[in-house]
Amino acid sequence: MAEKHDEANAGATNELSEEEALRWLVGFSQTNTDAIQAMRPGKRLDFFEDLRRYLNVEQGTLVDQEILRAEKKPGLLRPILDLAHEAVNAVADLKRVRFPRKGPQGAVIIDARKLGKGNRRPEIRYETGLYASMLTSIASDLDDSDRAPLIRRCPQCKEIFYANRENQTYCTHKCANRRALARYEQENPGKRAEQERKRYERRKVAVTE
Ligand SMILES: [Zn+2]
Repeated sequence: MAEKHDEANAGATNELSEEEALRWLVGFSQTNTDAIQAMRPGKRLDFFEDLRRYLNVEQGTLVDQEILRAEKKPGLLRPILDLAHEAVNAVADLKRVRFPRKGPQGAVIIDARKLGKGNRRPEIRYETGLYASMLTSIASDLDDSDRAPLIRRCPQCKEIFYANRENQTYCTHKCANRRALARYEQENPGKRAEQERKRYERRKVAVTE
């Protein structure tokens, strides 16, 4: 039997794929407690459900209890929002970042109640708090997948996004177009102004005729 970690135990029926997990992480890292507070009840429920899914939270664990508290007081999520934000930014900006372990230290549970002839090992459970779970999940997601380079910062609007394709540089068509226009104007100074003037002249002629 595999060792039981709170965060690694696939107790959830619908586990996230590597891609879904990274995409979710990017979205989570871009939100904040005010936005969570302002969510409609249904959306807020989904948000916390997704967080539970991401962390593979089992009922009754330390993480579960911490999330239950955060559902009533979203401000309690600030440490893991900051953590996700810093981690995702570091990946998008190709930087190094160091996260000291903090928060509740959790526990190691040795359950020997079923130890006997047929059962040679006590049940061991490593229990960690929300912050430690988040830190472990982020690290293992980045470690297990080769998709981290898809977490990028748009050179135009400077927002972070998850790229759909390897060759996607900008977050949206809008940003790609804006950049293309800026480059055109830079390479053809005055040309656009000239076009604008001509268009104006044509219009003036049309109006006066
Ligand atoms: Zn953009």
